[in-house]
Amino acid sequence: MRRKIVVIGGGIVGSSIAALLPDGVSVTVLDQGPAGRLAGSTGHAPGFVGLLNEAPVLTELARASAELYDDLELDGTRGFDRVGGVEVADSPEAAEKLAERAELAAAAGLPHRLLDAAETASLAPDLINPARCRAGLHFPADGTARAGVITAALRERSSAQFVPDAAVVGIDLRGDRVAAVRTGTETYPADDVVLASGIWGPVVASLVDVQLPLTPVAHPYVYGPERASGPATPFVRWPEHHVYARDHGGRLGLGTYDHAPQPVPLDELGRNAEQPWPGELFDDPVRRAMQLLPTPFDLAERLNGVFAMTPDNLPFLGPVPHVPGLWSAVAIWVTAAGGAARALVDQLLGAEPRFPDLHTLAPTRFAGQDPANLQARSLTLYNDIYASL
Ligand SMILES: Cc1cc2nc3c(=O)[nH]c(=O)nc-3n(C[C@H](O)[C@H](O)[C@H](O)COP(=O)(O)OP(=O)(O)OC[C@H]3O[C@@H](n4cnc5c(N)ncnc54)[C@H](O)[C@@H]3O)c2cc1C
Repeated sequence: MRRKIVVIGGGIVGSSIAALLPDGVSVTVLDQGPAGRLAGSTGHAPGFVGLLNEAPVLTELARASAELYDDLELDGTRGFDRVGGVEVADSPEAAEKLAERAELAAAAGLPHRLLDAAETASLAPDLINPARCRAGLHFPADGTARAGVITAALRERSSAQFVPDAAVVGIDLRGDRVAAVRTGTETYPADDVVLASGIWGPVVASLVDVQLPLTPVAHPYVYGPERASGPATPFVRWPEHHVYARDHGGRLGLGTYDHAPQPVPLDELGRNAEQPWPGELFDDPVRRAMQLLPTPFDLAERLNGVFAMTPDNLPFLGPVPHVPGLWSAVAIWVTAAGGAARALVDQLLGAEPRFPDLHTLAPTRFAGQDPANLQARSLTLYNDIYASL
């Protein structure tokens, strides 16, 4: 009998796992979303992939993700472009931080270069206001992802069955072990069940009484009008201002974390990782962020997207020990998704681990702790997102 693995969630994480599992395994990916549309966070991600992270395990997962994405394309459109990334310092203190980041990059073996103000501004002249630039740190191996293209290409590569409009409403146990996954109309027998349900992870985990202390948060990202596309330039981050921007080819885009964190209650999530734009609450931070550009752009599109935060900015990745056969792969950025999928597939197959410190990602590491405290800790990290990106 072939081993049956059911993956709940077909975003970039679930699709990566499906693509990396060997053909000898029967894999079914259930997603509550409609065919042909990614309604989860993956469908909204603007695709910044910065490899360096303060947590070495995330740097390694990001490096492996980028290597996986390098080869992916769909109908001639590449999933990942190594355009590089640059961090900009606007103050002497921030410039010192960049020097520390350079040491971290050296320790991780990542290509990088500290730049003076003029060199920095010349890397992305449409995005970097020279009057707000004192120094920079360039990462040539960073890149920008088309998360939708990557996900579709991974699905194409996979022999798994992808089932849309399949909202999971139950996970059946035999004894304490997983046995099947239920939608409203079908039952899928399962030897293993992988939660790859992103911001909905806690809802799905609660079907078997597992608590995942993940907090969905709303986050603003805006696009400018269409314009003639120039040569590819690195994406840009201003860590001290909690702002980031990129050239999407035909238009500029900008996001900001410089606002009070906005948790989204699980019962208000709906089935799309997008919320209504909350007016002033995001308008002011976006206006402030625009001052970092040489010329602020008009807003052609405003996105209030939802992604997952955890109490230590690390994913929940690995087996759920007290429910044999249940695995978690949630709270994972596009940046780390491919690598995280490799790590989980290794664990599923009992292979030698190829990444360090995977125990730090254990899904049950906060077991027994107060949920309100854990949420407060997660939200504190929102304004310091670059601590672990
Ligand atoms: C505005 C914004 C900006 C971002 N910027 C970046 C960035 O620059 N760089 C970066 O690396 N990441 C970024 N992210 C984060 C990134 O998009 C996510 O971390 C990533 O896409 C999560 O992928 P996933 O597959 O885990 O989740 P998702 O893409 O959300 O997929 C989960 C899937 O599970 C399905 N599902 C949920 N519940 C059920 C159920 N009961 N039954 C069946 N199916 C179910 C959903 O339909 C969904 O398709 C951003 C996100 C947003 C919203």
